[in-house]
Amino acid sequence: MSDLTHNLSRAQAYLQRFRDKPTTHYINGAWTPASGDTFDNLTPVDNSSLGKVAAGTADDIDAACAAAEQAFPAWRDLSGQERKQCLHRFADLLVERADEIALVESMDCGQPLRFMKQAAVRGAANFRFFADKAPEARNGQALYQPEHSNLTLRTPIGPVGVITPWNTPFMLATWKIAPALAAGCTVVHKPAEFSPLTAAILAEASEQALPPGVWNMVNGFGESAGKRLTEHPAIRAIAFVGESVTGSHIMAQGAPTLKRMHFELGGKNPVIVFDDADFDRALDAVVFMLYSLNGQRCTSSSRLLVQSGIRDRFIAALKARVQNLNVGHPLDPATEVGPLIHSSHYQKVLDYMAIAREEGAHIAVGGHPFEGDNISRDGNYVQPTLFTGARNDMRIAREEIFGPVLTVLSFDTEDEAITIANDSPYGLAAYAWTGDQGRAMRLAHAIDTGMLWINSENNRNLPSPFGGVKMSGVGRDGGDYSFDFYMETKNVCLAHGTHKVPELGKH
Ligand code: NAD
Repeated sequence: MSDLTHNLSRAQAYLQRFRDKPTTHYINGAWTPASGDTFDNLTPVDNSSLGKVAAGTADDIDAACAAAEQAFPAWRDLSGQERKQCLHRFADLLVERADEIALVESMDCGQPLRFMKQAAVRGAANFRFFADKAPEARNGQALYQPEHSNLTLRTPIGPVGVITPWNTPFMLATWKIAPALAAGCTVVHKPAEFSPLTAAILAEASEQALPPGVWNMVNGFGESAGKRLTEHPAIRAIAFVGESVTGSHIMAQGAPTLKRMHFELGGKNPVIVFDDADFDRALDAVVFMLYSLNGQRCTSSSRLLVQSGIRDRFIAALKARVQNLNVGHPLDPATEVGPLIHSSHYQKVLDYMAIAREEGAHIAVGGHPFEGDNISRDGNYVQPTLFTGARNDMRIAREEIFGPVLTVLSFDTEDEAITIANDSPYGLAAYAWTGDQGRAMRLAHAIDTGMLWINSENNRNLPSPFGGVKMSGVGRDGGDYSFDFYMETKNVCLAHGTHKVPELGKH
């Protein structure tokens, strides 16, 4: 039996229950049948249905928000130590189900198993990191004045809404929900309609690790369930990951109830490779940071800026690597690039091939649907693609394509590289490859971005701030930055008894 056949049969065993009965909502500690319609959840592998999913209504969201509101005071008032224990228990449950999580996520999203294998461990790491921070979440500061002392107290903001996208949905849900729970907030989670399955596994873990109502999950579409969540008066804050345009809708929807918003949005992230870079490491990173996760990664380096001295050699080496990528079934261990999430997204990515041709760019590699052995013709497979001869004013250099498609630009000087890098509506991540330390620091100051990696691919560090500028986001995740979002800061001013209180009406 081949590895693919073996993985497929294990995946089918895990997926059977989703086929047997609809994936419902999890509200107040109970699995709640759909109050409205259901929809088919299609796998990118061949667009067959993995089962029905409940399409959440406003009533479902209202029930979930009421549960989160009711559960909030008791969860808030647990000691940090008790919350820490619950969240470690949660992490243990994820690790126990690592195999299932990886296989189900791969089939639901089309992400190669080689990348999803670590999903549960990384999700659990998010829980453990914030579990350990829970006891200190409420700690504030003492601020001295000669006649007063000020204490800042931190309290959880209340029930929060978490809305996640379809790219690495398991990982992103844990990244958002773990700090919210550690801070003492209760949660209503609305997963993406294209990738609902691992959200159900998370809700199952919460059933074992958390009191009822602390974690609620409502499936469904953005314009119905998602919209209602952003409007609900009991919800104090929305943590959203998704497209920039959706973020602007959510900001408007949340305005009447003055919600606090945290947005992690789209990107068109530059990777700048200078003549003095370590050529081989830079090449590895450029290929990895675009073509891993099918190019469906917010921090993917989708604009390559390469300096003229090494341009031809670098592009030639890059072409060879892109032509050599293994496209295939996500459960095949050899697969490096799998199918795109949905037929609509597949079509959007293919449309950019036509746009590139119209704009006068050159398609050096790819540019078409991918067909091959061991994969279905009905799947959403696209050839890994390389656009060369592009200019930064072309749509292929400005818009987020979110597929295995890299746009190459060229520059002569450092100033020119900075100008091109900054000439974008986005500012999530940037990458620079150079052997010159002074230049690295100059770039650090000059590039408009939330995150800059120098001589590295994207490296995760949980305490570091994660987030974007411009159309790429509002706010930061990570470590104490997450607690700043999920908590209110209250100032308490105590007089030392030495100052004179102003006297009015005492003549
Ligand atoms: P999307 O914006 O279409 O959907 C994201 C979520 O929002 C889904 O759950 C959807 O149902 C919901 N939604 C849609 N409209 C809504 C509305 N009006 N009100 C409330 N909820 C609504 O995004 P997507 O296509 O699922 O995800 C891909 C996008 O996510 C890309 O742009 C990518 O860059 C971005 N992303 C950003 C980060 C980051 O950290 N910056 C991380 C991952 C993904």
